[in-house]
Amino acid sequence: MPLDPARTVAELKELRQLTGDENGAQRVAWTDTWETARGWLREKLAGLPLEEEIDPAGNQWWTLRGASAREVLIGGHIDSVPNGGWLDGALNMVAGVEVLRRLAEEGEPAVTVRLVNWADEEGARFGRSLFGSSAAAGSMADQDELRRRKDAEGTPLPDALAEHGVELDRALEARNQLENAAAYLELHIEQGPVLESIDLALGVVLGTFGVERHQVTFTGQAAHAGSTPMDKRRDALAGAAKLELEIREIAKRTGAGAVCTVGGVVTKPGIVTSVVETAECLLDQRHLDAEKLARMLDEAKAASERYAGEEDVEVVWERIWSIEPILFDDALIELADEAIREVAGESHRLPSGPLHDAAEVARAGVPTVMLFVQSLRGLSHTKLEDTKEEHLELAVQALDRLADKTIARVAAG
Ligand SMILES: [Zn+2]
Repeated sequence: MPLDPARTVAELKELRQLTGDENGAQRVAWTDTWETARGWLREKLAGLPLEEEIDPAGNQWWTLRGASAREVLIGGHIDSVPNGGWLDGALNMVAGVEVLRRLAEEGEPAVTVRLVNWADEEGARFGRSLFGSSAAAGSMADQDELRRRKDAEGTPLPDALAEHGVELDRALEARNQLENAAAYLELHIEQGPVLESIDLALGVVLGTFGVERHQVTFTGQAAHAGSTPMDKRRDALAGAAKLELEIREIAKRTGAGAVCTVGGVVTKPGIVTSVVETAECLLDQRHLDAEKLARMLDEAKAASERYAGEEDVEVVWERIWSIEPILFDDALIELADEAIREVAGESHRLPSGPLHDAAEVARAGVPTVMLFVQSLRGLSHTKLEDTKEEHLELAVQALDRLADKTIARVAAG
């Protein structure tokens, strides 16, 4: 049975029909619809010489034993956000099914190949993304906090997991799943506009952005809007406004994909008759290069202090969250480039703004690479999410080539 990329597109439509409605995909993790999708995947792989298992974190694995116990992993996630798109996560899985069919048909591969459906990548119900992959990577460090999490209906997270056979306290036992992993491959829709803007179907992902997220608070003095002369004001919003314009310059100067965003500013007292006393800004900065990210942060801090001086206000920084950049494997990036060139003629290398399960696997020390396929209009997490069918088919072919190249490399090394 040769690879049949058109079948992947047909099966994705079948899955959309089965687990979506007029508002989009409804495969939210730890729900009945998610379980339906997992059962559907199981049926698609029935009859092949595979072993299926669900690990203690709820990740669903299929193993095709090879001549060597070293493993090449292909991963994705069948869960979606509520009213989500038909391709986010599902493309990875359904393309992986097709590659596994082709490999199984050809007999015992040189190394063991495993397909994994990570549990709860999106974190849509409980606000905790990358659940299954972080458990397998051993980086899940928030089990105490997870124990207290509830969904919108007040159902505690541990109860919802238990309904699907997962004990939160045992989730980290999924760690031994990566023991023999020699490489991890993930195909995903880009969820951004870059590939479409350069008219390419496919790209190789270099890694996921590091993120620095801060609350920056400017504090001045509330004063009457009518009686306070312009040169006597200590206007906190003036400092915030200058910073918002400057971070765009910082990102532009830094380049190489740098992004900086002030996602919100809350001003107090927030009335039309008063100068602003406090302006709390939410700043998000991202880069693939840790040094450049650190420099962007330093520059923003220095600029905020300069503006505080100019406006005679105070500024205080508080870190909300941060994560280091996670770089994918150089050798696998080369193989992915080759695979894309073979099927699509031209390749492109780009960073990923969103995090993915692949970042957790890479963080655990497994050589990792991702392929991106073009997203139309850069839209995702909406029913409008889409990719041209011809591009979906190229993506299946590229993943298939990459799997073969990776198997050969792992077998040789
Ligand atoms: Zn995804």
